[in-house]
Amino acid sequence: MHELSLCNSIARAVIQNAQGRRVTSVRLRVGALRQVVPETLVYCWSIASRGPILDGSVLEVEHVPAEIECGDCGTRSELSRFNLSCPSCGNHEVKVVSGEEMLIESIEVADEAEPPEAPPDPRPSGPATTAAH
Ligand SMILES: [Zn+2]
Repeated sequence: MHELSLCNSIARAVIQNAQGRRVTSVRLRVGALRQVVPETLVYCWSIASRGPILDGSVLEVEHVPAEIECGDCGTRSELSRFNLSCPSCGNHEVKVVSGEEMLIESIEVADEAEPPEAPPDPRPSGPATTAAH
């Protein structure tokens, strides 16, 4: 399943960005030209997000419509199925300017406060900076 491998790579990127903090939600922008089904993506996320960092996190999929830009008059319009021409001047020399997106827009992490059931952090909490001589 294409969506699952996608979710796995999203999960990897989110874990890197979370830097050990627990993630509560992930916002993803998906262009209309990407052949993904948002519902399937969300379902696959529930599998890909297993683990201490992402467990229980929600994947929010934001759908980005496909847009074309006219090479002649510059009009931007939403790409309608089977109609690759400028609605303003009828020119067929249009290029797709959006709709291929697949990016993590934002991630939300849990508050800094430790949940009560979490074990105490074994790492020493020394000063982060060293004094200059
Ligand atoms: Zn035009």
